[in-house]
Amino acid sequence: MKIVTKAIEILKNPICDNCLGREFSELLSGYSNEQRGKVIRQFIGFLIDSDEKVEVDLSNFYGIKFRNVKIKPQRPKKCKICKNFFQEKIDKVVEKIREKIKGIEFNTFLIGSIILDEMVKAQENVWAKVGIEYVEPIKSEINRELGKRVEKLTGKKFDLKNPDVTVLVDLNTDSIRTQVRSLYVFGRYQKFARGIPQTKWICPKCKGGGCTYCNGKGKLYPTSIQEIIEKPLLKVVKAKKSKFSGAGREDINARCLGFRPFVIELIKPIRRKIDLKKIEKQISRSKKIKVKGLKFTGKDLIRKLKTARIDKTYSTKVEFKKKIDKNKLKKLKDLLKEPILQKTPLRVVHRRTDKFRRRAVKKISWKILGNKKLQLKIRSESGLYIRELITGDEGRTQPNIADLLGNKVKKIELDVIKIHEK
Ligand SMILES: [Zn+2]
Ligand SMILES: [Zn+2]
Repeated sequence: MKIVTKAIEILKNPICDNCLGREFSELLSGYSNEQRGKVIRQFIGFLIDSDEKVEVDLSNFYGIKFRNVKIKPQRPKKCKICKNFFQEKIDKVVEKIREKIKGIEFNTFLIGSIILDEMVKAQENVWAKVGIEYVEPIKSEINRELGKRVEKLTGKKFDLKNPDVTVLVDLNTDSIRTQVRSLYVFGRYQKFARGIPQTKWICPKCKGGGCTYCNGKGKLYPTSIQEIIEKPLLKVVKAKKSKFSGAGREDINARCLGFRPFVIELIKPIRRKIDLKKIEKQISRSKKIKVKGLKFTGKDLIRKLKTARIDKTYSTKVEFKKKIDKNKLKKLKDLLKEPILQKTPLRVVHRRTDKFRRRAVKKISWKILGNKKLQLKIRSESGLYIRELITGDEGRTQPNIADLLGNKVKKIELDVIKIHEK
């Protein structure tokens, strides 16, 4: 269908410049649909003024002065497609958006919308007549035009890929929702105290509500790495929740003297510009942990962190039940010969699948601390259960140190001294 024929067909109903131009959206660059619509409308006006017989709704030419034909168009009814959204409503929506995002700190944003069914239907009726060759859907124009205005109003940038704030406009309910992108902070921590889990350990009985099992605390440990690190962060970004991911699980009762990488996600932050150096100092004041190298990162690092296979070196003081047989100590080197076969430890089997895993011990050395006391330094592959390597876990870990030494373990004091990042 020729452009002129199409334009005349569309102009049989009252139509605004935006909705007219949008049917020719893919023609010429550098114009808004409104500008395209205006040009086409004027061109059809030329035809009418030169007395060509075109059958259109003349109210579409309201405000245009004809020179040769005696026509004085009446004020048009509302645009058949958008019901004058672009002329009368859009600024009100923009004002509402401004209200809604006031107080949120962001640099980039995206706008999405749910538009009225009647708009979509009216648009499709036009397409049924003129085809869809150069058209753009009304929804994408609304999103873009809202975006342009909000950009102008706030000085912030429209960003399709990674917006800080996503604004969702629902024209059916006249409501606006916002989604604020999480902030991700990467860093490395050391843990100097025992009895601290990596993440907040919510009480399994009450799910955090507080019950007799947890003494009304809602959690099983007074604090965690996550809670110590999140505290000053949540405060400055004015958020309520975080998610914590560390490189490898933390043994609650082991210290972590090597620096362990982590990412903390701050959910729905109101502020985004924060001084991480200052936060670093605040966290490290806790004495229980220390953090270094805090920096902003992306979500994708979490997956990398969780799937990274990182060797660890442990230092452990082991107290045995009987006197240590020194002649047997060199047998510990047997652990390096082939991977250790471990069934899921008894202490965790109630919450994890019972299966076998094979993990290598890469280095082992020892120092006698007393008749019954041994210090061991062990480098192992990621995922090896180190306590079970020492105790044997009732035969579930093979080979194991207790069996090799023919001695039962009384007590283990465990420290992670190095995390071997690649
Ligand atoms: Zn319209
Ligand atoms: Zn509880």
